[in-house]
Amino acid sequence: MNPENHIKRIALFGSTGSIGTQALDVIAANPDRFSAEVLTARSNDELLIQQALRFKPNVVVIVDEKKYGKVKEALASTPVKVFAGEKALEEVAALDCYDMMLAAIVGYAGLKPTLKAIDNGKAIGLANKETLVVAGDIVMKKAVEKKVPVIPVDSEHSAIFQCLVGETRNKIEKVILTASGGPFIGRKPNYLVNVKREHALQHPNWTMGAKVTIDSATLMNKGLEMIEAKWLFNLKPEQVQVVIHSQSIIHSMVQFEDGSIKAQLGLPDMKLPIQYALAFPRRIRNDFPRFDFRKINTLTFEEPDVKTFRNLGLAHDALHKGGNLPCVMNAANEIAVYAFLRNRINFLDMTDVIEKTMQQVSFIGNPTLEEYFDSDGEARNFAADLIRL
Ligand code: NAD
Ligand code: MG
Repeated sequence: MNPENHIKRIALFGSTGSIGTQALDVIAANPDRFSAEVLTARSNDELLIQQALRFKPNVVVIVDEKKYGKVKEALASTPVKVFAGEKALEEVAALDCYDMMLAAIVGYAGLKPTLKAIDNGKAIGLANKETLVVAGDIVMKKAVEKKVPVIPVDSEHSAIFQCLVGETRNKIEKVILTASGGPFIGRKPNYLVNVKREHALQHPNWTMGAKVTIDSATLMNKGLEMIEAKWLFNLKPEQVQVVIHSQSIIHSMVQFEDGSIKAQLGLPDMKLPIQYALAFPRRIRNDFPRFDFRKINTLTFEEPDVKTFRNLGLAHDALHKGGNLPCVMNAANEIAVYAFLRNRINFLDMTDVIEKTMQQVSFIGNPTLEEYFDSDGEARNFAADLIRL
């Protein structure tokens, strides 16, 4: 926290995305608490410029270097510093002009800037689950060394985190991650084989970026979240359970060693976990819609269908075997999801690509950071070759 005026200065990495824009709504609603000091985007120059003019950050980064000139020119009459390129994300993460990074870039691309922020002693609000899936041991170890809090933004993990407040001395028996099940809950492979991009992009309860929406439809999202939970809460693989709860009202639960279960509930709205992470340990008043038990009076729970949604089984294997396997799975999944979004492969092919890649790339039990980078690259190349065949 900036001691001079107690305004928490936020570096919003991935400001033009679904999480990024909602985080800016939270910041705009609380100008006495938060300011946006860093904004970054991959290629949406128009929105980045608009955001910069409105929030007057210290620095913006546009990753796509072709767009640097346009952003620079649009902000020429302002004091906003403009950087471009992938490397600039890490350089800006190493600056001292902010207090907390909100890590809201999607995919593997979020890992290096987040590691830099931790090295730089900055608190992390973590939306980017892939960071922990790829290198959770290294990220969390570094955070402990640097005494940096990593506060989850993912709704399930925010729920668990909220359930754990005041429970530091108490042992967790297990965490129960709830999953909406996505748009294809109850469907079988003969249906899924024909599913198209547009259909898979319709999520029943949440509006999110394209990648996480597809991950929700294949249940890979819940697989990634199992691994995310393991690292965030220092759990053994067998302490992470998944249950389908299609209303998305209970955001997740913790069962303690006396059998007592705590849950966190609310309407599905990412602004709440975003606000909680930014303001932690405080809660701040807002006028988001409230959940009303008289309107939704049935909450249902069922076992996930892992025979149909095989990604969940693959993620279960990766969680249990550990090493570089989650990293390899994540890389193959990113390639497969982008190929599906470009109509290059069908819905069920995504799982085949991931499975074959996981079988192909050599297993490393205790990888270094470099070995994670190499495993990611190798898995991407192999998965991309499979798709080209
Ligand atoms: P999004 O696609 O809407 O936005 C992604 C952001 O990252 C954009 O600002 C984009 O410019 C930037 N970006 C994309 N690729 C990049 C790259 N290669 N280098 C640098 N920047 C890049 O994604 P989102 O839905 O906001 O999700 C962001 C992260 O939060 C993901 O890891 C996702 O799993 C997680 N998450 C999202 C939600 C949600 O409701 N959207 C919920 C829980 C967790
Ligand atoms: Mg989630």
